[in-house]
Amino acid sequence: MSDTQSAEVVVIGGGARGCSIALFLARAGVRVILVERRYLASMVSSANGAQVNVTAKEPDPYTLLSLESARMYPDFIASLEADIFLQQEGILFVTLDPAEMENLRRRVETRNRLPGLHLRLLDGREAREIMPALTPDVIGGYVSSADGIVDVLALLPAMGRAARRAGATLLCNTEVTGIDVSGGRVQGVITNRGTIATPVVVDAAGVYTPHIGRMVGLSIPVDPEHGHMVVSQPYPRLIPIPTDYVTQLPNGAFLIGTTNRVVGYDTRVRPGWLPPFLQRAIRILPRLEQVNALRIFAHLRPMPPDRLPIYDRVPEIEGFYIAVGHSGITLAPITGKIFADLIVHGQSDYDLGPYSLKRFAQASARGAGVPEGPATA
Ligand SMILES: Cc1cc2nc3c(=O)[nH]c(=O)nc-3n(C[C@H](O)[C@H](O)[C@H](O)COP(=O)(O)OP(=O)(O)OC[C@H]3O[C@@H](n4cnc5c(N)ncnc54)[C@H](O)[C@@H]3O)c2cc1C
Repeated sequence: MSDTQSAEVVVIGGGARGCSIALFLARAGVRVILVERRYLASMVSSANGAQVNVTAKEPDPYTLLSLESARMYPDFIASLEADIFLQQEGILFVTLDPAEMENLRRRVETRNRLPGLHLRLLDGREAREIMPALTPDVIGGYVSSADGIVDVLALLPAMGRAARRAGATLLCNTEVTGIDVSGGRVQGVITNRGTIATPVVVDAAGVYTPHIGRMVGLSIPVDPEHGHMVVSQPYPRLIPIPTDYVTQLPNGAFLIGTTNRVVGYDTRVRPGWLPPFLQRAIRILPRLEQVNALRIFAHLRPMPPDRLPIYDRVPEIEGFYIAVGHSGITLAPITGKIFADLIVHGQSDYDLGPYSLKRFAQASARGAGVPEGPATA
């Protein structure tokens, strides 16, 4: 990298969000540089549950945003010109508790009011017809058609290659250490390998988004939420689609999750936290008891307090955009589209009101805090 170079846009972070944004911008003919401290997908974008997850998302606008992204997935993957496994045949949610059935029935009814969502309520027998390996104790559940899984280990490098082919410059091993702002506008990005003159910056630094925000005097509320996944040895095909947090990958290995705790920037595996979710998985799928766990990993979800993304163009600093939140795999295609539209055309097709940074200032000004959302993979 020369001491000074220039770009129309600099994207900070080479995870699912940053790669997608750089790709869509490059395809729109924008001169874009992506700056990544380590290497592409070096953080949580290659260490997650691999689900394209729509049905569990709330409230409704967020479900619909996730649904739109899920619908984009087949064409998005085809456009990457790479062999990437994608299955969108649904996820089966089950319960062992008869008292839960009424809740599930209501959930299916309200979710099915949303255009494009098709949830089917199942009794225990119907659930076992879909997944014979389920315990006879399963009382019922529902299957959604919109959800699926994607091979994230193949997806992220393919997004990076496609962004390069489209003309993006990807600078790995390059850490952003400052943002040059003067006259209320972004002027450039300072890295440990030189400066990039640019009028536009997208902060897609995952759990480090707040650190970049502080460089321009912004407070961006994002917690690093720790989560585990257990990976098994390959096993003969047992489940055709994922159920709750158990997914069987194309090679037969199970991916089983998860935990949700905020313990700082610490990605260590905590064996003491594993039993509840492993026991539940075995309770639902008793044959998992035979399966040999091969490895356990843990990483950090970039989690705003209300569990919704922060997708915003910050009015106080011209040229500064924020792209952070949970479910970056699910949202990868639509995130690239949203930010390319915002930057190139000045607007997005989607209502980004619920995802503004200022909602947190408004919530604390009201003294109301932010609502608790459901825990998700
Ligand atoms: C256990 C678990 C299960 C999950 N399951 C799912 C799931 O099934 N489906 C789903 O959609 N999501 C899931 N997620 C969440 C998902 O993985 C994340 O939302 C997504 O990967 C975040 O992508 P990102 O691009 O925003 O951030 P990241 O992938 O963290 O990328 C940010 C990048 O910014 C770089 N960076 C940081 N600071 C700097 C700097 N100063 N200079 C340059 N670069 C910098 C980092 O090195 C990093 O590569 C899961 C997460 C966990 C922990």
